[in-house]
Amino acid sequence: MENLIWGTFEQLSEGLEKKQFSSVELTKAFIARTYAIDKSLKAFLNFDEKKTLAEAEASDVRRSRGQSLGRLDGVPVGLKDIFAEKGQRLTCGSRILEHFVSPYDATVVKKLKDAGAVLWGRLNMDEFAMGSSSENSAFQVTSNPWDLDRVPGGSSSGSAAAVAAGEVSLSLGTDTGGSVRQPASMCGVVGLKPSYGCISRYGMVAYASSLDQAGPLARTAGGVAALLQVLSGADPKDSTCARMHVPDYLAAVQSSEGKKWILGVPEEYFGEGLDSEVKSSVEKAIHFYEAQGYIVKPVHLTSLEYAIPVYYIIATAEASSNLARYDGIRYTYRSPRAKNIDEVYDQSRSEGLGEEVKRRILLGTYVLSSGYYDAFYGKAQKVRRLIYNDFMRAFAEVDVLVTPTSPVPAFKKGEKTSDPLAMYLSDLYTISVNLAGLPAISFPCGFTNRGLPIGCQLIGKPWEETTLLSMAYTFEKHHPFNLKIPNL
Ligand code: GLN
Repeated sequence: MENLIWGTFEQLSEGLEKKQFSSVELTKAFIARTYAIDKSLKAFLNFDEKKTLAEAEASDVRRSRGQSLGRLDGVPVGLKDIFAEKGQRLTCGSRILEHFVSPYDATVVKKLKDAGAVLWGRLNMDEFAMGSSSENSAFQVTSNPWDLDRVPGGSSSGSAAAVAAGEVSLSLGTDTGGSVRQPASMCGVVGLKPSYGCISRYGMVAYASSLDQAGPLARTAGGVAALLQVLSGADPKDSTCARMHVPDYLAAVQSSEGKKWILGVPEEYFGEGLDSEVKSSVEKAIHFYEAQGYIVKPVHLTSLEYAIPVYYIIATAEASSNLARYDGIRYTYRSPRAKNIDEVYDQSRSEGLGEEVKRRILLGTYVLSSGYYDAFYGKAQKVRRLIYNDFMRAFAEVDVLVTPTSPVPAFKKGEKTSDPLAMYLSDLYTISVNLAGLPAISFPCGFTNRGLPIGCQLIGKPWEETTLLSMAYTFEKHHPFNLKIPNL
């Protein structure tokens, strides 16, 4: 049973279907693994073993009656601690929400429950999804499963680390500027940021609402496709969620295999600051596709240099407004020292929010303040449009863009904590995708000499998730990096 934890989603789903093992057995294997390693990995903030096992039992009962709810029924899925799950704590990695218990289910959580998924644990994250390493979590720093002295990436740090370390089969993260793809890349798993509007944001704590998207993580493209299948689609509770036809992602992935697309390689994404091992590994992936018969074309995305400044204006502006609700009055921490209403706001926020979150609220308030609004926020919105146009120009010539996910492999804990700009740079290649609302996937394309995973990013046209999944699937069939297991 121990080996179950290393099964791919496809193997686990099939094993459950054929009754080779039960959901309770599978879930217990992941729980045992979590107990064995999470003291050193620290991917989980919280879990409710009894609740999880009850969900697994219910799945087994359904299956024994021939009433299985589908491919996800009985499969353990972990949630970033940003999604509301009724009756469970939701901290968002922040002291200010330390004791908050969700009164309802997020749409994604409801959809997972309706699909029979077994929800295992609440996964660590940078506070309010602001960060790239888990070091902004108010509670703990998650380790990278491939080297415990290094960070797992962020902000969906626990979601990537737990899947890579065999603590859970699949997980859900969120991606506002790279927070699914960058940790997936650093932990050696597959992570997808869908097109904006693909997955409902209802019940997902808001950071920067025009950029936030939930995204699935798994050890294989098939696992990501299966999660996306149940998560995507319209939601009357989120008007930004598109009324789209949901394709059969898993079937589409397998049936479109063999199709050759035109790949664009944006020169700007291979320039200064890119680690040489990351570069050569991604170039090898490009050569692989070329050898498979794909056409590879150089393209230009000159707007890259504006991505980080534009993101840190728009994201902080939206964050300063979204986070105003944590006021010490409703559902949050309230400072015991406050003696009047002003002090309640002031001291609760001062004590309850971390340094990086406060930095962003201040920045966001500044760029929205009168006199600066046009100079910063208004200008950034215009440049955001130019970034989108830049992508669309490239997509007139090519189907998919290929780039590194992160300029560097997992870095050492503490290495960038005193230099926010250096930390921001680790999202250089992922951020424009959110500003343009596009889908993008990160999949493992190699390892450094030290044994750290390297991620390759594919960026697609809007709503072309199946193309990205199909290409990642083709790659992993020829390069089974997902079968490599970290030594811990
Ligand atoms: N690391 C980026 C930030 O700190 C992206 C975060 C995210 O995607 N949630 O804002």
